[in-house]
Amino acid sequence: MDEKINKCRQCGVVLVKDVNWFKSFVDKKHGRYYLCKQCAIESSRKWRLENPERVNFLQSRNHHKKIQKYRKLILDLLGNKCNNPTCPISPEKLDKRALHIDHVNGGAYQKGRRINSGRYPQYLKKVYNELKNGSKDYQLLCAYCNWMKRFKNNELPTPRCKKGG
Ligand SMILES: [Zn+2]
Ligand SMILES: [Zn+2]
Repeated sequence: MDEKINKCRQCGVVLVKDVNWFKSFVDKKHGRYYLCKQCAIESSRKWRLENPERVNFLQSRNHHKKIQKYRKLILDLLGNKCNNPTCPISPEKLDKRALHIDHVNGGAYQKGRRINSGRYPQYLKKVYNELKNGSKDYQLLCAYCNWMKRFKNNELPTPRCKKGG
């Protein structure tokens, strides 16, 4: 390991391991460089301000990962198949991606609309925990059956584009 003294590129403070050492960065412009903890926090804040679309991308990737994770857990718990006994799509033909997590009493759609999409992973986590505790409030329906149920029960969304009544 190299013993030379490393200084923070930003403020020039001498870096001491386990004290103010953050980590070394490598980039095309500066090669290897070092930042103290303080400057690292500062620069990552600045970076986030300057790269909102990158931040969004990383957040949404994380978001999707969480959704996928809980979706899979829920689908496994509920048997990975459409719960409608008269489902016209045979289980072998059904693509798992077409399975919807449906609230048996029709609450899911309204509930789903109320939670903002940013909180969807938390919602799925909650559903998963309820199911694990024996809840019978949720079922899987394929897209077809889910829409038919909505038509039948009038669980249809009202148009969103209304402004001021
Ligand atoms: Zn610094
Ligand atoms: Zn179905």
